Amino acid sequence: MNIIDIIVKKKNNEILTEEEINYAINGYLDGTIKDYQISSLLMAIVLNGMNLEETYYLTKVMLNSGDKNDLSDIVGNVIDKHSTGGVGDKTTLILGPILASMGLKMAKMSGRGLGHTGGTIDKLESIKGFRVELSRDEFIKEVNEIGMSVISQSGNIVPADKKLYALRDVTGTTESIPLIASSIMSKKIASGSKNIIIDLKVGNGALMKTLSSARSLANYMIEIGKRFDRNVICVLTNMSEPLGKNIGNGLEVIESIDFLNGRQARDLKELITTLVCIAMKVTEGLSEEESIKLMEEKISSGEAFDKFKDFVKYQNGDIESIDISSKMLQINSSKEGFLKSINTLKLGELVRNLGGGRLNKEDIIDYGVGFVLNKKVGDLIMPGEELLKVYYNKKDIRIDDLLSCFEIVEEPVNKQDVIIEVIGG
Ligand code: URA
Repeated sequence: MNIIDIIVKKKNNEILTEEEINYAINGYLDGTIKDYQISSLLMAIVLNGMNLEETYYLTKVMLNSGDKNDLSDIVGNVIDKHSTGGVGDKTTLILGPILASMGLKMAKMSGRGLGHTGGTIDKLESIKGFRVELSRDEFIKEVNEIGMSVISQSGNIVPADKKLYALRDVTGTTESIPLIASSIMSKKIASGSKNIIIDLKVGNGALMKTLSSARSLANYMIEIGKRFDRNVICVLTNMSEPLGKNIGNGLEVIESIDFLNGRQARDLKELITTLVCIAMKVTEGLSEEESIKLMEEKISSGEAFDKFKDFVKYQNGDIESIDISSKMLQINSSKEGFLKSINTLKLGELVRNLGGGRLNKEDIIDYGVGFVLNKKVGDLIMPGEELLKVYYNKKDIRIDDLLSCFEIVEEPVNKQDVIIEVIGG
């Protein structure tokens, strides 16, 4: 067997065997197969896809490339949530403390930014001192004592995904159903939770641009979950505009803190409420009404925010010291009308170009940069009124580029719903 034949086979749209998939992934891990060869195979997979069987084999070899978390020392109901990636998506930073304050346990391994989308680990590192790598004992202790922990793919958990993810990020090979399904499911299965909620983003700022591709990804993940005895629930959510108002690592931490203190953007609230209700239903059997009531109590009493503070402190972060750039530019609208659409993908790319994401594997992130939106789809805007603020450090900002992301029209436009549909569970 050799890697060139495998690449050519996938280039010719043929189905790979389990042995061929194992050979490619194990060879990449032990260094006998090179970055450029796997990049080529990844691109062939992006273009020609993989069937469910191939995707299952890919997930299995990735899962078996490292250790699996043993959560048996955690006392209580454990839930895991994963997002397929979007712009302004700070859901984990909000959901974790809320669920912890409601008595659930969230033991979570998160990723870094991928393509134009942000990653929870990069966001957390905008908090000075925050440790994203913990020993197993520290991790379990934190989950038991505080109710949540978020760590990077540290140690030896799915090393194959760690390597492939970093390569995909810089080779234009992010948007692929089998690659996303195997990447997410290998990590989720290795993480150990039986109940897994996937926030599957759909729209112009998501990896999945259409509802049909999102449904297909959901079905792949649910089927793979079943083969590993996991309960996977996919919540298809709108990513045709950024989630909430802030985009960029440090700025998203700030918006999460605001949310936990009751200052909540409408769309973010809708998403968090739905995820809380699903999590409480599958673990504790609570009704929607009961979950919402309890969630509101935990936020207004300050208990949810206390969990966030405890979590940051435990992981050595200084909540008073979040990296936000001191240079700010306010962009006003020159037009009057209703905001019809936001080019979310481009906004994500602009944040990356400002330094908020990586263009090369080795790039160092500038945590302080990003955007704060003052208007969302459906809002009325007047000439001279603020559209957004830009936080920047060094990079040039092309105002024309930025303004071209916002389409303003004369006729009123409906606000967008966040929840599209729920599949599985
Ligand atoms: N999230 C992941 O963990 N992997 C992907 O491929 C996409 C989103």
